[in-house]
Amino acid sequence: MPESERILIVDDVPENVAMVSGILSRAGYRLNVALNAEQAIRLAQTTAPDLILLDIIMPGQNGFNVCRIIKDSLTVSDIPIIFLSGMDDTDTVVEGLMMGAADFVSKPFNPDILLARVRTHLALSQKTRQLQEMAEKDGLTQIANRRHFDDYLLHQWHSLSERKSSLALILFDVDQFKAYNDSYGHLDGDDVLRRIALEIASHVPGDKQLAARYGGEEFVILLVAKDLNSALKLARQIRSAVEQLQIPHAKGVGGVVTLSAGVAALTPSSENSSESLIRQADVKLYQAKQNGRNQVIG
Ligand SMILES: [Mg+2]
Repeated sequence: MPESERILIVDDVPENVAMVSGILSRAGYRLNVALNAEQAIRLAQTTAPDLILLDIIMPGQNGFNVCRIIKDSLTVSDIPIIFLSGMDDTDTVVEGLMMGAADFVSKPFNPDILLARVRTHLALSQKTRQLQEMAEKDGLTQIANRRHFDDYLLHQWHSLSERKSSLALILFDVDQFKAYNDSYGHLDGDDVLRRIALEIASHVPGDKQLAARYGGEEFVILLVAKDLNSALKLARQIRSAVEQLQIPHAKGVGGVVTLSAGVAALTPSSENSSESLIRQADVKLYQAKQNGRNQVIG
């Protein structure tokens, strides 16, 4: 039952709001109401509705402006918008759909048709969300995958270059992992990767920081607005935590599974690129390996 989903109704005429609210609340949806564009934009951002029913003609900014602002906003652009308007000439309908609305329902409307369209678009957007989550996750370890990491790095790179703030990166590699797989088998190897991913993720609070599986036995953490020292500190904590898991590895450092890490930090500018951040961390990781593994270099 999709009954607990939240819908934002935007209409300047209280009688219209009352009618639409009646239909949707009887169907079990939770509702928020905005009587003008400013309220609509604020409520879209603060209540994160699952769907927006949007009037077009309102005093002040009209529904098209609301739609444009929501579709341009990174945080709420995925919310499906259904225009609900008496202005339903072809040009208006096409313009609304072209600017990213999911659907257009003409007033006066049939309650059953409105409900059916609401259900369809809620179901579609839930499916899309599930697919997006799957596309961003590493199947084995359930943390972010390389593709998501690359996107996130690029996005943060651009946004921090405007703020002149630094971006730190930790690149981890499981020591002697090929030897582990050769001795214990790939299933146990997979288990090690899962345990390490869990350990790494538990040290990353999530907010603005991202832990991801970078390659086979490589993991990466991106720390937004953090300097080299705080990244080094975190890398050392994780290195130590993984060693303390005491996962037996006869050919590993000290008989257990360990991590080596390379750490780098950069302030994005026109003279460098996100690749240079990865390259620097990679060079440090290589040094950590050369120095005997199970260590952090930055
Ligand atoms: Mg109106």
